[in-house]
Amino acid sequence: MSKSDQLFEQARQSIPGGVNSPVRAFNGVGGTPVFIERADGAYLYDVDGKAYVDYIGSWGPMLLGHNHPAIKAAVMTAVEKGLSYGAPTEIEVRMAERVRAILPSMEQVRMVNSGTEATMSAIRLARGYTGRDKIVKFEGCYHGHADSLLVKAGSGALTLGQPNSPGVPADFAKHTLTCIYNDLASVEAAFAQYGQEIACIIVEPVAGNMNCIPPVPGFLEGLRALCDRHGAVLILDEVMTGFRVSKQGAQGHYGITPDLTTLGKIIGAGMPVGAFGGKREIMQHIAPTGPVYQAGTLSGNPIAMAAGLAMLDLLEQPGLYEALNEKTARIAEGFKAAAAKHGISLAINQVGGMFGFFFSSEPTITRFDQVTRCDMEQFKRFYHLMLEEGVYLAPSAYEAGFLSLAHGDKEIEHTLAAAERSFAKLAG
Ligand code: PLP
Repeated sequence: MSKSDQLFEQARQSIPGGVNSPVRAFNGVGGTPVFIERADGAYLYDVDGKAYVDYIGSWGPMLLGHNHPAIKAAVMTAVEKGLSYGAPTEIEVRMAERVRAILPSMEQVRMVNSGTEATMSAIRLARGYTGRDKIVKFEGCYHGHADSLLVKAGSGALTLGQPNSPGVPADFAKHTLTCIYNDLASVEAAFAQYGQEIACIIVEPVAGNMNCIPPVPGFLEGLRALCDRHGAVLILDEVMTGFRVSKQGAQGHYGITPDLTTLGKIIGAGMPVGAFGGKREIMQHIAPTGPVYQAGTLSGNPIAMAAGLAMLDLLEQPGLYEALNEKTARIAEGFKAAAAKHGISLAINQVGGMFGFFFSSEPTITRFDQVTRCDMEQFKRFYHLMLEEGVYLAPSAYEAGFLSLAHGDKEIEHTLAAAERSFAKLAG
Protein backbone atom coordinates (compact mmCIF):
# COMPACT_ATOMS: atom_id res chain seq x y z
CA MET A 1 0.00 0.00 0.00
CA SER A 2 1.38 3.43 -0.89
CA LYS A 3 1.90 6.05 1.78
CA SER A 4 -0.76 8.19 0.03
CA ASP A 5 -3.27 5.35 0.36
CA GLN A 6 -2.37 4.86 4.02
CA LEU A 7 -2.79 8.56 4.71
CA PHE A 8 -6.11 8.69 2.89
CA GLU A 9 -7.44 5.82 4.97
CA GLN A 10 -6.22 7.55 8.12
CA ALA A 11 -7.60 10.93 6.97
CA ARG A 12 -11.08 9.52 6.45
CA GLN A 13 -11.26 8.69 10.15
CA SER A 14 -10.97 12.30 11.25
CA ILE A 15 -11.73 14.48 8.21
CA PRO A 16 -15.02 14.11 6.27
CA GLY A 17 -14.14 12.23 3.10
CA GLY A 18 -10.48 12.57 4.04
CA VAL A 19 -10.16 16.04 2.50
CA ASN A 20 -10.74 19.68 3.36
CA SER A 21 -12.25 20.54 -0.05
CA PRO A 22 -14.33 17.95 -1.95
CA VAL A 23 -12.69 17.86 -5.41
CA ARG A 24 -9.40 16.77 -3.81
CA ALA A 25 -11.00 13.40 -2.98
CA PHE A 26 -10.79 12.26 -6.66
CA ASN A 27 -14.54 11.48 -6.77
CA GLY A 28 -14.59 12.94 -10.30
CA VAL A 29 -12.02 10.47 -11.61
CA GLY A 30 -12.22 7.51 -9.23
CA GLY A 31 -9.31 6.06 -7.29
CA THR A 32 -7.64 7.69 -4.32
CA PRO A 33 -5.83 11.03 -4.12
CA VAL A 34 -2.08 11.48 -3.95
CA PHE A 35 -0.90 13.25 -0.81
CA ILE A 36 1.59 16.02 -1.44
CA GLU A 37 4.71 16.52 0.62
CA ARG A 38 6.26 19.55 -1.09
CA ALA A 39 6.36 21.51 -4.31
CA ASP A 40 8.95 23.40 -6.29
CA GLY A 41 8.76 25.26 -9.61
CA ALA A 42 6.47 23.33 -11.96
CA TYR A 43 6.56 20.18 -9.81
CA LEU A 44 4.59 18.60 -6.99
CA TYR A 45 6.23 15.78 -4.99
CA ASP A 46 4.02 13.24 -3.28
CA VAL A 47 4.65 11.47 0.03
CA ASP A 48 5.87 8.39 -1.87
CA GLY A 49 8.60 10.44 -3.55
CA LYS A 50 7.03 10.65 -7.01
CA ALA A 51 7.29 13.93 -8.98
CA TYR A 52 4.46 15.37 -11.06
CA VAL A 53 4.36 18.27 -13.51
CA ASP A 54 1.59 20.32 -11.91
CA TYR A 55 -1.27 21.76 -14.01
CA ILE A 56 -3.38 22.81 -11.03
CA GLY A 57 -1.01 25.27 -9.36
CA SER A 58 -3.02 25.17 -6.10
CA TRP A 59 -6.12 25.79 -8.30
CA GLY A 60 -4.66 28.95 -9.77
CA PRO A 61 -2.43 30.96 -7.44
CA MET A 62 0.95 29.56 -8.51
CA LEU A 63 1.37 31.68 -11.62
CA LEU A 64 5.13 31.83 -11.08
CA GLY A 65 5.51 28.22 -10.00
CA HIS A 66 5.83 26.83 -6.49
CA ASN A 67 8.25 28.05 -3.87
CA HIS A 68 9.26 31.22 -5.72
CA PRO A 69 12.30 32.62 -3.88
CA ALA A 70 11.17 36.28 -3.91
CA ILE A 71 7.73 35.40 -2.53
CA LYS A 72 9.21 33.10 0.08
CA ALA A 73 11.65 35.84 1.15
CA ALA A 74 8.83 38.42 1.45
CA VAL A 75 6.84 36.00 3.63
CA MET A 76 9.85 35.26 5.86
CA THR A 77 10.52 38.97 6.37
CA ALA A 78 6.88 39.59 7.30
CA VAL A 79 6.83 36.61 9.68
CA GLU A 80 9.75 38.11 11.61
CA LYS A 81 7.57 41.13 12.48
CA GLY A 82 4.43 39.34 13.64
CA LEU A 83 1.66 37.13 12.32
CA SER A 84 -1.47 39.25 12.76
CA TYR A 85 -2.38 42.51 14.50
CA GLY A 86 -6.11 43.06 13.93
CA ALA A 87 -5.26 46.71 13.32
CA PRO A 88 -4.48 48.75 10.19
CA THR A 89 -1.06 48.34 8.54
CA GLU A 90 0.84 50.18 5.82
CA ILE A 91 1.11 47.05 3.68
CA GLU A 92 -2.71 46.93 3.32
CA VAL A 93 -2.63 50.45 1.91
CA ARG A 94 0.10 49.47 -0.52
CA MET A 95 -1.85 46.41 -1.61
CA ALA A 96 -5.03 48.43 -2.24
CA GLU A 97 -3.09 51.05 -4.19
CA ARG A 98 -1.38 48.39 -6.29
CA VAL A 99 -4.66 46.66 -7.13
CA ARG A 100 -6.19 50.01 -8.12
CA ALA A 101 -3.20 50.82 -10.32
CA ILE A 102 -3.50 47.51 -12.19
CA LEU A 103 -7.32 47.37 -12.31
CA PRO A 104 -8.60 50.94 -12.55
CA SER A 105 -12.26 49.82 -12.27
CA MET A 106 -11.46 48.95 -8.63
CA GLU A 107 -11.52 52.47 -7.20
CA GLN A 108 -11.72 51.07 -3.67
CA VAL A 109 -10.73 47.61 -2.46
CA ARG A 110 -11.55 45.54 0.63
CA MET A 111 -9.36 42.54 1.45
CA VAL A 112 -10.90 39.27 2.68
CA ASN A 113 -9.63 35.72 3.26
CA SER A 114 -11.00 33.68 0.35
CA GLY A 115 -12.75 33.90 -2.98
CA THR A 116 -15.99 32.80 -1.32
CA GLU A 117 -15.83 35.72 1.10
CA ALA A 118 -15.16 38.09 -1.79
CA THR A 119 -18.18 37.01 -3.86
CA MET A 120 -20.47 36.70 -0.83
CA SER A 121 -19.56 40.22 0.29
CA ALA A 122 -19.83 41.70 -3.22
CA ILE A 123 -23.34 40.26 -3.54
CA ARG A 124 -24.43 41.59 -0.16
CA LEU A 125 -23.07 44.97 -1.19
CA ALA A 126 -24.89 44.88 -4.54
CA ARG A 127 -28.13 43.99 -2.73
CA GLY A 128 -27.62 46.69 -0.09
CA TYR A 129 -26.71 49.29 -2.69
CA THR A 130 -29.66 48.62 -5.02
CA GLY A 131 -32.21 47.68 -2.35
CA ARG A 132 -33.07 44.63 -4.48
CA ASP A 133 -32.94 40.92 -3.57
CA LYS A 134 -32.57 38.88 -6.76
CA ILE A 135 -29.26 38.01 -8.36
CA VAL A 136 -28.40 36.48 -11.73
CA LYS A 137 -25.77 33.77 -12.05
CA PHE A 138 -24.97 31.22 -14.74
CA GLU A 139 -25.31 27.47 -14.77
CA GLY A 140 -21.87 25.91 -14.43
CA CYS A 141 -20.26 29.04 -12.98
CA TYR A 142 -18.88 28.57 -9.47
CA HIS A 143 -18.40 31.52 -7.17
CA GLY A 144 -17.62 29.77 -3.90
CA HIS A 145 -19.92 28.10 -1.42
CA ALA A 146 -22.06 30.96 -0.06
CA ASP A 147 -25.79 30.18 0.15
CA SER A 148 -26.99 32.44 -2.69
CA LEU A 149 -24.47 30.90 -5.03
CA LEU A 150 -25.05 27.19 -4.45
CA VAL A 151 -27.94 27.14 -6.84
CA LYS A 152 -28.29 25.46 -10.21
CA ALA A 153 -30.77 25.84 -13.05
CA GLY A 154 -33.28 23.20 -14.11
CA SER A 155 -32.16 21.61 -17.38
CA GLY A 156 -30.77 24.62 -19.13
CA ALA A 157 -33.88 26.79 -19.00
CA LEU A 158 -34.16 29.87 -16.83
CA THR A 159 -35.72 28.78 -13.57
CA LEU A 160 -36.21 30.19 -10.15
CA GLY A 161 -33.35 28.78 -8.14
CA GLN A 162 -33.47 25.41 -6.51
CA PRO A 163 -30.86 24.88 -3.81
CA ASN A 164 -27.90 22.80 -4.94
CA SER A 165 -27.11 21.63 -1.44
CA PRO A 166 -29.12 20.65 1.62
CA GLY A 167 -28.78 23.42 4.17
CA VAL A 168 -29.54 26.20 1.70
CA PRO A 169 -33.12 27.33 2.45
CA ALA A 170 -35.36 27.29 -0.62
CA ASP A 171 -36.68 30.70 0.46
CA PHE A 172 -33.19 32.02 0.10
CA ALA A 173 -32.29 30.23 -3.13
CA LYS A 174 -35.42 31.53 -4.87
CA HIS A 175 -33.71 34.89 -5.16
CA THR A 176 -31.01 33.41 -7.40
CA LEU A 177 -31.95 33.35 -11.09
CA THR A 178 -29.83 30.98 -13.13
CA CYS A 179 -29.21 31.76 -16.80
CA ILE A 180 -27.25 30.05 -19.57
CA TYR A 181 -23.63 31.09 -20.00
CA ASN A 182 -22.93 32.59 -23.43
CA ASP A 183 -26.67 32.89 -24.13
CA LEU A 184 -27.63 36.54 -23.82
CA ALA A 185 -31.27 35.78 -24.66
CA SER A 186 -31.60 33.82 -21.40
CA VAL A 187 -30.41 36.87 -19.45
CA GLU A 188 -32.67 39.21 -21.40
CA ALA A 189 -35.59 36.94 -20.48
CA ALA A 190 -34.65 37.15 -16.78
CA PHE A 191 -34.51 40.94 -16.93
CA ALA A 192 -37.74 41.15 -18.92
CA GLN A 193 -39.50 39.34 -16.10
CA TYR A 194 -37.66 40.59 -13.00
CA GLY A 195 -35.73 43.69 -14.16
CA GLN A 196 -36.78 45.88 -11.23
CA GLU A 197 -35.88 43.20 -8.65
CA ILE A 198 -32.41 42.22 -9.89
CA ALA A 199 -29.54 43.58 -7.78
CA CYS A 200 -26.67 42.18 -9.81
CA ILE A 201 -25.28 39.81 -12.37
CA ILE A 202 -22.30 37.80 -11.17
CA VAL A 203 -20.29 36.06 -13.87
CA GLU A 204 -16.97 34.35 -14.41
CA PRO A 205 -15.74 36.37 -17.41
CA VAL A 206 -13.96 33.23 -18.61
CA ALA A 207 -15.75 30.28 -17.05
CA GLY A 208 -13.21 28.06 -15.33
CA ASN A 209 -15.47 25.85 -13.25
CA MET A 210 -17.16 24.04 -16.14
CA ASN A 211 -13.82 23.18 -17.67
CA CYS A 212 -12.63 26.32 -19.55
CA ILE A 213 -15.18 28.29 -21.57
CA PRO A 214 -14.37 31.76 -22.90
CA PRO A 215 -17.17 34.28 -23.45
CA VAL A 216 -18.50 34.43 -27.01
CA PRO A 217 -18.16 37.86 -28.65
CA GLY A 218 -20.88 40.22 -27.41
CA PHE A 219 -21.79 38.19 -24.30
CA LEU A 220 -19.98 40.26 -21.66
CA GLU A 221 -20.83 43.48 -23.54
CA GLY A 222 -24.49 42.41 -23.50
CA LEU A 223 -24.39 41.81 -19.72
CA ARG A 224 -22.87 45.27 -19.24
CA ALA A 225 -25.64 46.85 -21.32
CA LEU A 226 -28.42 44.97 -19.49
CA CYS A 227 -27.08 46.08 -16.10
CA ASP A 228 -26.89 49.69 -17.32
CA ARG A 229 -30.42 49.58 -18.67
CA HIS A 230 -31.93 48.09 -15.51
CA GLY A 231 -29.82 49.73 -12.79
CA ALA A 232 -28.20 46.43 -11.75
CA VAL A 233 -24.60 45.96 -10.62
CA LEU A 234 -22.25 43.97 -12.88
CA ILE A 235 -19.87 41.81 -10.83
CA LEU A 236 -17.00 40.18 -12.70
CA ASP A 237 -15.77 37.28 -10.61
CA GLU A 238 -12.08 37.36 -11.47
CA VAL A 239 -11.00 35.04 -8.63
CA MET A 240 -9.63 32.71 -11.29
CA THR A 241 -9.04 35.01 -14.27
CA GLY A 242 -7.51 37.93 -12.33
CA PHE A 243 -3.82 38.35 -13.21
CA ARG A 244 -4.03 35.09 -15.19
CA VAL A 245 -5.72 35.69 -18.54
CA SER A 246 -3.85 38.99 -18.69
CA LYS A 247 -2.27 41.30 -16.12
CA GLN A 248 -5.55 43.26 -16.12
CA GLY A 249 -7.53 40.03 -15.93
CA ALA A 250 -10.49 39.33 -18.18
CA GLN A 251 -11.74 42.90 -17.84
CA GLY A 252 -8.55 44.13 -19.49
CA HIS A 253 -8.46 41.29 -22.01
CA TYR A 254 -12.04 41.84 -23.21
CA GLY A 255 -12.32 45.57 -22.50
CA ILE A 256 -15.30 45.34 -20.11
CA THR A 257 -15.64 47.68 -17.13
CA PRO A 258 -17.51 46.03 -14.24
CA ASP A 259 -19.08 47.85 -11.30
CA LEU A 260 -17.52 45.40 -8.85
CA THR A 261 -14.72 42.83 -9.20
CA THR A 262 -13.88 39.88 -6.97
CA LEU A 263 -10.33 38.56 -6.71
CA GLY A 264 -8.57 35.66 -4.98
CA LYS A 265 -5.90 33.05 -5.74
CA ILE A 266 -2.99 34.87 -7.47
CA ILE A 267 -3.48 38.03 -5.38
CA GLY A 268 -2.38 35.99 -2.34
CA ALA A 269 0.34 33.96 -4.08
CA GLY A 270 -0.92 30.86 -2.25
CA MET A 271 -1.84 32.46 1.07
CA PRO A 272 -5.56 32.56 2.02
CA VAL A 273 -6.66 35.84 0.41
CA GLY A 274 -9.53 37.37 -1.51
CA ALA A 275 -10.59 40.91 -2.34
CA PHE A 276 -13.56 42.77 -3.70
CA GLY A 277 -13.78 46.29 -4.96
CA GLY A 278 -15.12 48.62 -7.58
CA LYS A 279 -16.83 51.95 -7.99
CA ARG A 280 -16.19 54.26 -5.06
CA GLU A 281 -19.88 55.22 -4.98
CA ILE A 282 -20.84 51.57 -4.42
CA MET A 283 -17.95 50.70 -2.08
CA GLN A 284 -18.89 53.63 0.16
CA HIS A 285 -21.93 51.59 1.19
CA ILE A 286 -19.69 49.13 3.06
CA ALA A 287 -19.20 49.50 6.84
CA PRO A 288 -17.81 51.59 8.44
CA THR A 289 -18.59 54.27 5.78
CA GLY A 290 -21.96 52.77 4.96
CA PRO A 291 -24.58 50.42 6.40
CA VAL A 292 -23.71 47.15 4.58
CA TYR A 293 -21.85 45.06 7.14
CA GLN A 294 -18.68 43.18 6.26
CA ALA A 295 -15.68 42.35 8.47
CA GLY A 296 -12.84 39.88 9.15
CA THR A 297 -10.50 39.18 12.09
CA LEU A 298 -7.67 38.14 9.78
CA SER A 299 -8.57 40.31 6.75
CA GLY A 300 -5.54 42.12 5.34
CA ASN A 301 -3.27 39.70 7.21
CA PRO A 302 0.31 41.01 6.96
CA ILE A 303 1.84 37.71 5.84
CA ALA A 304 -0.76 37.28 3.12
CA MET A 305 -0.32 40.91 2.01
CA ALA A 306 3.47 40.44 1.83
CA ALA A 307 3.10 37.33 -0.33
CA GLY A 308 0.52 38.98 -2.59
CA LEU A 309 2.48 42.20 -3.05
CA ALA A 310 5.65 40.26 -3.87
CA MET A 311 3.64 38.41 -6.51
CA LEU A 312 2.23 41.63 -7.98
CA ASP A 313 5.78 43.07 -8.10
CA LEU A 314 6.97 40.04 -10.05
CA LEU A 315 4.12 40.39 -12.54
CA GLU A 316 5.78 43.60 -13.78
CA GLN A 317 8.42 41.56 -15.68
CA PRO A 318 8.18 42.44 -19.38
CA GLY A 319 7.03 39.63 -21.65
CA LEU A 320 5.63 37.56 -18.78
CA TYR A 321 2.10 37.22 -20.17
CA GLU A 322 3.31 36.60 -23.71
CA ALA A 323 5.45 33.73 -22.39
CA LEU A 324 2.59 32.31 -20.30
CA ASN A 325 0.24 32.47 -23.28
CA GLU A 326 2.79 30.79 -25.56
CA LYS A 327 3.47 27.95 -23.09
CA THR A 328 -0.25 27.36 -22.51
CA ALA A 329 -0.95 27.36 -26.25
CA ARG A 330 1.79 24.75 -26.72
CA ILE A 331 0.05 22.46 -24.23
CA ALA A 332 -3.43 23.06 -25.66
CA GLU A 333 -2.40 22.60 -29.29
CA GLY A 334 -0.06 19.72 -28.40
CA PHE A 335 -2.92 17.83 -26.68
CA LYS A 336 -5.12 18.37 -29.72
CA ALA A 337 -2.47 17.17 -32.18
CA ALA A 338 -1.59 14.13 -30.05
CA ALA A 339 -5.26 13.15 -29.76
CA ALA A 340 -5.84 13.63 -33.49
CA LYS A 341 -2.86 11.39 -34.27
CA HIS A 342 -4.64 8.54 -32.47
CA GLY A 343 -8.09 9.29 -33.89
CA ILE A 344 -9.49 10.72 -30.65
CA SER A 345 -11.86 13.69 -30.89
CA LEU A 346 -10.71 16.43 -28.58
CA ALA A 347 -11.84 20.05 -28.43
CA ILE A 348 -9.60 22.66 -26.83
CA ASN A 349 -10.14 26.09 -25.26
CA GLN A 350 -7.42 28.43 -24.06
CA VAL A 351 -7.25 32.00 -22.77
CA GLY A 352 -3.89 33.25 -21.47
CA GLY A 353 -2.65 30.86 -18.75
CA MET A 354 -5.93 28.84 -18.61
CA PHE A 355 -6.83 25.90 -20.80
CA GLY A 356 -9.42 23.15 -21.11
CA PHE A 357 -9.72 19.96 -23.15
CA PHE A 358 -12.97 18.16 -23.90
CA PHE A 359 -13.49 14.60 -25.07
CA SER A 360 -16.08 15.72 -27.58
CA SER A 361 -16.60 15.55 -31.31
CA GLU A 362 -18.09 19.06 -31.29
CA PRO A 363 -15.40 21.34 -32.71
CA THR A 364 -16.09 24.31 -30.42
CA ILE A 365 -17.34 24.21 -26.86
CA THR A 366 -19.08 27.36 -25.70
CA ARG A 367 -21.85 26.09 -23.41
CA PHE A 368 -22.32 24.11 -20.24
CA ASP A 369 -24.66 21.54 -21.80
CA GLN A 370 -21.91 20.64 -24.27
CA VAL A 371 -19.54 19.96 -21.37
CA THR A 372 -22.04 17.60 -19.77
CA ARG A 373 -22.20 15.62 -23.03
CA CYS A 374 -18.42 14.97 -23.12
CA ASP A 375 -17.11 11.42 -22.77
CA MET A 376 -16.44 11.32 -19.03
CA GLU A 377 -15.19 7.69 -19.09
CA GLN A 378 -12.48 8.63 -21.59
CA PHE A 379 -11.56 11.61 -19.41
CA LYS A 380 -11.19 9.40 -16.32
CA ARG A 381 -8.97 6.89 -18.11
CA PHE A 382 -6.85 9.66 -19.59
CA TYR A 383 -6.57 11.28 -16.17
CA HIS A 384 -5.12 8.16 -14.54
CA LEU A 385 -2.81 7.40 -17.47
CA MET A 386 -1.38 10.93 -17.18
CA LEU A 387 -1.06 10.64 -13.40
CA GLU A 388 0.96 7.44 -13.86
CA GLU A 389 3.15 9.34 -16.32
CA GLY A 390 3.82 11.99 -13.66
CA VAL A 391 1.44 14.68 -14.94
CA TYR A 392 -0.97 16.14 -12.39
CA LEU A 393 -4.14 17.43 -14.09
CA ALA A 394 -7.28 18.65 -12.33
CA PRO A 395 -9.16 15.53 -11.16
CA SER A 396 -12.45 16.60 -12.74
CA ALA A 397 -13.69 17.20 -16.28
CA TYR A 398 -15.33 20.40 -14.96
CA GLU A 399 -12.11 22.18 -14.02
CA ALA A 400 -9.75 24.34 -16.04
CA GLY A 401 -6.00 23.66 -16.28
CA PHE A 402 -3.41 26.23 -15.21
CA LEU A 403 0.16 26.78 -16.36
CA SER A 404 2.92 28.68 -14.61
CA LEU A 405 5.98 30.54 -15.78
CA ALA A 406 8.03 27.73 -14.22
CA HIS A 407 6.81 25.30 -16.89
CA GLY A 408 9.78 25.14 -19.25
CA ASP A 409 10.53 23.18 -22.42
CA LYS A 410 11.45 20.08 -20.41
CA GLU A 411 8.13 19.96 -18.55
CA ILE A 412 6.06 20.78 -21.64
CA GLU A 413 7.82 18.14 -23.74
CA HIS A 414 7.41 15.55 -20.97
CA THR A 415 3.70 16.39 -20.74
CA LEU A 416 3.10 16.17 -24.48
CA ALA A 417 5.00 12.88 -24.78
CA ALA A 418 2.94 11.52 -21.88
CA ALA A 419 -0.26 12.74 -23.53
CA GLU A 420 0.66 11.03 -26.78
CA ARG A 421 1.31 7.70 -25.03
CA SER A 422 -1.93 8.07 -23.05
CA PHE A 423 -4.04 8.84 -26.14
CA ALA A 424 -2.44 5.84 -27.87
CA LYS A 425 -3.53 3.60 -24.97
CA LEU A 426 -7.04 5.11 -25.02
CA ALA A 427 -7.31 4.42 -28.74
CA GLY A 428 -5.87 0.90 -28.47
N1 PLP B 1 -14.91 32.33 -7.71
C1 PLP B 1 -14.29 31.58 -8.64
C2 PLP B 1 -14.37 31.97 -10.08
C3 PLP B 1 -13.58 30.44 -8.25
O1 PLP B 1 -12.97 29.69 -9.18
C4 PLP B 1 -13.52 30.10 -6.88
C5 PLP B 1 -12.78 28.91 -6.42
O2 PLP B 1 -12.27 28.13 -7.18
C6 PLP B 1 -14.18 30.93 -5.96
C7 PLP B 1 -14.86 32.03 -6.41
C8 PLP B 1 -14.14 30.60 -4.50
O3 PLP B 1 -12.86 30.83 -4.00
P1 PLP B 1 -12.37 30.11 -2.64
O4 PLP B 1 -12.23 28.66 -2.97
O5 PLP B 1 -11.06 30.79 -2.35
O6 PLP B 1 -13.39 30.38 -1.60
